Amino acid sequence: MTIVQCLGDYKDNHLYIKREDLIPFSFGGNKARKAQLFFREINKGDYDCVVTYGSGSSNHCRIIANECCRRGMECYIISPLEASEQTFNSQMMDLFGAEITTVPVRNVHDTIEGKMAELWRENKKPYFIEGGGHGNVGTEAYVQCYEEIKEYEQTENIHFNYIFFASGTGTTHAGLVCGQLINQDERKIIGISIARKNPRGRDVVIQSIRSYLGDRVIEEQIQEKTIFIDDYTSGYGKDDRRVIETIEMALKKYGIPLDTTYTGKAFMGMSEYIQKEQIRDKNIMFIHTGGTPLFFDALKKIGEGK
Ligand SMILES: *Cc1c(COP(=O)(O)O)cnc(C)c1O
Repeated sequence: MTIVQCLGDYKDNHLYIKREDLIPFSFGGNKARKAQLFFREINKGDYDCVVTYGSGSSNHCRIIANECCRRGMECYIISPLEASEQTFNSQMMDLFGAEITTVPVRNVHDTIEGKMAELWRENKKPYFIEGGGHGNVGTEAYVQCYEEIKEYEQTENIHFNYIFFASGTGTTHAGLVCGQLINQDERKIIGISIARKNPRGRDVVIQSIRSYLGDRVIEEQIQEKTIFIDDYTSGYGKDDRRVIETIEMALKKYGIPLDTTYTGKAFMGMSEYIQKEQIRDKNIMFIHTGGTPLFFDALKKIGEGK
């Protein structure tokens, strides 16, 4: 599904936004795109429940819980105590009837294994999805997104010189770069990290690319094409106010919701990158990766601190 909007001139460039947040299930977003493929896998097997992992603010867990609820499937979520705050997403996970087990982050791995073993013992067939929909299935979802962007370029006779988006587990990033490597086309794909620092953050993206492409990889190209900006990773701190201002601007000027964890940071990072690198007269695409419920968590902060 492709909804690309032209937002007009932005800092001497032409800005477009791909509205992944409008994918029509459970507030959309990149996790909705990934979930479609995970549930395609689930349909192929005889699975009867899903086990996954994520925080109280996880868009991934909300969407998986929603789809499980829709199908009448049980959904088990393991959640780290250190990030178990109540959000609109966590409220919905409860509403969807997901069983949430909260444990200290160091126990997450063992708790997942324990839950899987327990379900097998009960003769259930659990399907496990990594946190954030990480893995080759998630990567595939963003190779498909890249193909949609290519199709849009062809029908609209336009070329995007830059693509920006929020990079978390790196799967979205990996899928887009894989798409580019498969098509061998020229542009800069720039992931704005929301948490991980370099070099690890970039290495995780590169590992996902290698894992997806297998023998098809050309190492120098992977190194050249994987651009991972880690200047905006602070959770709370001096950037906070600026992220809030970015969110307020996007809402007032474009009527588009952004959030403090992902899209607000990425939009701000894109803005600063354009300025710092003195980019002019280019076609720039921002991918809105979703997280609309988090916008409402952020909305409480807009207007505070003025
Ligand atoms: C999860 C998420 C991301 C990051 O995607 P990854 O594939 O994990 O890198 C970006 N934006 C939003 C809104 C998300 O929920």
